[in-house]
Amino acid sequence: MEADVIVIGAGLAGLQAARRLQDEGLRVVVLERDDAVGGRMRTDRFDGFQLDRGFQVLNPAYSSVRKWVDAKSLDLQHFEVGVKLRDARGISTLAHPLRHPGLLPQTLGSGYLRPGELIALARWLGPTLLRESVSLRATRDTSLARSFDRAGITGPLRRNVLDTFLAGVLADADGTSSANFTRILLRAFAFGSPGLPRDGMQALPEQLASSLHERPLTDHDVTGIHDHGNGVTVDTSAGTFRAQRVVVATDPVGAADLTDITAPRMKGLSTWWFSADTPPASDGFILMDASRPGGGAAGPVLHAAVVSNVAPSYAPSGRHLIEATTLLGGAPTSESEVRADLERMYATSTASWELITRHDVPHALPEQRPPLLDRKPQRISDRVFVAGDHRDTASINGALMSGDRAARAITGLIRG
Ligand SMILES: Cc1cc2nc3c(=O)[nH]c(=O)nc-3n(C[C@H](O)[C@H](O)[C@H](O)COP(=O)(O)OP(=O)(O)OC[C@H]3O[C@@H](n4cnc5c(N)ncnc54)[C@H](O)[C@@H]3O)c2cc1C
Repeated sequence: MEADVIVIGAGLAGLQAARRLQDEGLRVVVLERDDAVGGRMRTDRFDGFQLDRGFQVLNPAYSSVRKWVDAKSLDLQHFEVGVKLRDARGISTLAHPLRHPGLLPQTLGSGYLRPGELIALARWLGPTLLRESVSLRATRDTSLARSFDRAGITGPLRRNVLDTFLAGVLADADGTSSANFTRILLRAFAFGSPGLPRDGMQALPEQLASSLHERPLTDHDVTGIHDHGNGVTVDTSAGTFRAQRVVVATDPVGAADLTDITAPRMKGLSTWWFSADTPPASDGFILMDASRPGGGAAGPVLHAAVVSNVAPSYAPSGRHLIEATTLLGGAPTSESEVRADLERMYATSTASWELITRHDVPHALPEQRPPLLDRKPQRISDRVFVAGDHRDTASINGALMSGDRAARAITGLIRG
């Protein structure tokens, strides 16, 4: 089969690259190893439940989502913007003051907000809230932990809220991630209202794929790329394909196998999906634990949520879906540890809850160490390009941006 461009991988980066190339009038063939599109954004259906392969949320404030995704037709079901915290005193609420002005008294009375630390956080994040790219160019990047220390963000807000929340978002419990990347993420949380599509997270890649003239070819595992100077051939488990150019939009480890790029270290997350007849809470907040003496989570669960409170489409009528997220990669976490955490956090027994499944994703996110390089080279040669979240930021936004950038590099080359 002959195409102008072959895109390898039908994750977000590959699908956005294919769409952009198609819009520029090129014939594009997408080859995908798995049995469906989505990559790290897949949704399983089981017994009336929708289970994303690893709990994640879509933030409509991402610039790529605003530009290229029809968020309205995904019918996002939104989480509350803020968190609830369990500590020895009970449950506290910290809610976005503009989104939930009615919760301001609870937020201020939570005991987690000290004026000095709030001012330090405002200084640390404020410039990025106002002018993201300008402020990030002007800010020398360092690790998150060091950056917080230097800024004086060292009080209860850091110890009990930020460190645990960010460990779950970045899959990083040590604060070694880029401070500037974290600023970008927190900016998106400040302006956006993350949610879950009615049909699960896979609905996003499905939407991107639906606008392609040629449906991605699934069950096509690419085993080799050969650059002949006047074209490329791509070997797959289902035969050989020819094209003028190729975009390697696999996961980072796959890209390192097919090209000579070096894969970044990958970080892992586990999601524990429980069903319950009675929900342990009635709100749409993420719940975190802050009951360790000295601050932070006392056990392995970084956050939990009654997903079906936010997204009723994720559970059958009369049943409830709860997620708990833990880090993957260190000492293994047992189900009894997770249940013990959830029992303390929700102050209820989990004996009648059923563990539906656990999704272990060892390669959930590429490590994003400082300095933040969100425009990593994507051109391997005049014919071979690489795209994916590892070439931009480790996020949905980074994957989409990188796919688009690879496609524009190719069309720029063709036009001369
Ligand atoms: C548990 C979890 C939680 C997350 N939470 C968030 C979040 O809340 N917010 C956020 O912004 N981001 C989050 N992310 C990150 C986000 O999902 C990813 O950054 C994004 O989906 C990556 O897209 P991609 O196209 O770069 O790569 P991938 O999705 O990995 O796509 C690569 C594709 O290439 C295919 N492939 C690989 N090798 C081959 C081959 N040899 N031949 C053919 N095909 C191949 C794969 O099957 C896959 O379909 C999370 C990720 C996980 C796993």
